[in-house]
Amino acid sequence: MLDATQREIAACTLCVEAGFIASANPIFRGHAGQRLMVVGQAPGPTAAERPTPFSGASGKALQGWLRQAGFPDGALHRDFYLTSLTKCFPGPDRHGGKGDRPPSAVEIALCARHLDQEIALVRPEIILALGRMAAERLDPSARRLPLAALVGTLRPAERAGHAFQLLPLPHPSGVSRWLNDPANRARLDVALEVLSRQAGQTASRQDEGRKS
Ligand code: SF4
Repeated sequence: MLDATQREIAACTLCVEAGFIASANPIFRGHAGQRLMVVGQAPGPTAAERPTPFSGASGKALQGWLRQAGFPDGALHRDFYLTSLTKCFPGPDRHGGKGDRPPSAVEIALCARHLDQEIALVRPEIILALGRMAAERLDPSARRLPLAALVGTLRPAERAGHAFQLLPLPHPSGVSRWLNDPANRARLDVALEVLSRQAGQTASRQDEGRKS
């Protein structure tokens, strides 16, 4: 089932047809049964050359956070289903700013069916939401809350009929200055402690399941 969904996503050109992007290059990676999922905002500009999600600077920062939470090197690309609100790079910022253009609400809505299918078929226990846009898409109660009110919380959420624990994190992109504030860095440290604890419980449940 997930294979069919992934083939459908890989062939999707909805945002091209709607005039948002010149060409589609959907980026995601993972397999059914992974208990951990990362939902980012959208792939970055290196997606065309490096089709593995989070293979650039953001992935390096994210792997560093996972290491702080007790995960071994390589865990990001081995243990996590990696996806995002929109699977295609939206292009550079159109107002001349640093970084990428955030996907519009319409693009996120166009891609929502893909994300819902991924969640319904992978059935993760914990989803790391990178940035406020991802957090509020996955948990409507997070809407209009600042990132500072979200990072460090573990939020029961449900999407596509599947219940999971949502852990909001800042976006690991170097463009974000959010972590320059020591109070926000402390919020991230709390979030990584929560992740460490929750992931440990998930691993224990999996071990128990294998033994029984
Ligand atoms: S961002 Fe999503 S909906 Fe838009 S073209 Fe890419 S895969 Fe399709």
